[in-house]
This record gives sequence, structure tokens and C-alpha cells, in this order.
Amino acid sequence: MDLSLLTSLKSTIKIFYDEPYSKVYDATVLKFVHEGSKGYLVLDKTIFHPQGGGQPSDVGQIVGSMGKMDVRKVMEKGNVIVHWGKVEGNFVENEAVKCELSWPERFYNMRAHTAGHILDYALLKVMGKPITTLSANHGPNAYIEYEGNFSKNLNICKIMEVANEIVSLGKNVKSYYVRKELVDKFIFNAPNLGRVPDLEVYRIVEIEDVNAMPCGGTHVANTKEIEKIKINRIEESINKFKVFYSI
Ligand SMILES: [Zn+2]
Repeated sequence: MDLSLLTSLKSTIKIFYDEPYSKVYDATVLKFVHEGSKGYLVLDKTIFHPQGGGQPSDVGQIVGSMGKMDVRKVMEKGNVIVHWGKVEGNFVENEAVKCELSWPERFYNMRAHTAGHILDYALLKVMGKPITTLSANHGPNAYIEYEGNFSKNLNICKIMEVANEIVSLGKNVKSYYVRKELVDKFIFNAPNLGRVPDLEVYRIVEIEDVNAMPCGGTHVANTKEIEKIKINRIEESINKFKVFYSI
């Protein structure tokens, strides 16, 4: 279906921003569109993180009084978050539903995403300058793509050592909102400012003493939860390279 038809709905309240550890949450149905055995569901608020910013869709289920959705994909259109998946039964507007995340996948994404921020820092420390990020995947088969053609000069062992020191030091991770004109006062060691969209208010994610950057993903509260970061391989192409890592 044409998802732009759903963008006239009220903006979805993104519970996952301020409560990334909420696994179950009650919400209200704003719109449901059935398509064969699948369906699209829009709620007033959600704990499901949509695909974007390098983070994969959350998966899980949404249960109403007459139906159930096995959520396989979550998309953001404008300010509206759309849940998609296999549907048994039906949903009606204004009914109360229970959202439940599949926590192993979400927690993995939180750990991998936070590990990505730490790798940005480790590269900066080892290379002595911020390296611009071009793209990222913080799910399974995680990587960060950086700009430049100096991957042969990367000291992988040193980068992993710096990254894992941050993990074992147990640095706190916090997020907060800052108006556009004040963003420069809060960010530090940020690698990807060129990719940040122009907004009135930014959500800043800060790992204490490490870096602070605009980010719309979900992160762990403390770097200890990552346990270990391993760089598996580097893939090089013209003026860019991908650092594949696992946790
Ligand atoms: Zn992030």
C-alpha cells in the first residue's frame, strides 16, 4: 500500500527514545489496513523502533481483543510509525492493544548500535582525527562505512583495545534533547555531522567522556552491557571502507 496515505495521522509518540528498556507497552489503534494475511497498523505510541539510522526494525507482536499481529517490519513515514506483519483476526480504531518486543533482537541492536559509537571514537583516537561515517548497519553482520582510503594504515588491534577499554570501564550512556542553535555546545568527538538532517530540536546521545552526537537509535544505558567488541574484517572500495564488527 502507499504509506504516504498514513502520514496525515497524528505523530506517533516514540516511547523507545526515553524508555529503551520497555519491552511491553499498552497503546491505542489509530489505523489498521488489512492486505491479505498481512496488515499495516498505526498506534498512538510505540516501543517498536523503525528501520533507520543503521538500526534494523524491531520485531515482536501486537495483541488486541480480536486480533494479533506478528510484527516483522516497522517503518517511519513522516512522523508516523507503521507496523507491518502477519495478522490473525482484526484490529479496530480506538481499541487498546498490547505491544511486546522480541527482546533478544532489540537488546542485540542496542548493544551493537552503542558499540558503533564506541568504534567511531576508537578510530578517532587511533587515527588522531575524526573519520567521517558514510553508512552503518547496527544489526546482525554489523558494519560502519567510513570515508577515506587509508584502511591499510588502520591498527585493528589498537582500535579494538581502545574500544574494549571503553566497554570495560562501564561508561554511562544518556540521551537528551537540544535546540538547533545549542547543538554545538553539547556534541563532541562526533564523526558524522554532514549526514545529520536539519531539525529544530536534536536528540543527542552521549557516552560519558567518549562522544556525544545526534542519533535516533536505541542504546544501552552502560557500555558494560556490550561485553566485547570484535572487528572481523575490513572491506575496501574507492575512497571508503567498511569495518565489520560483532559483539
Ligand atoms: Zn546511536
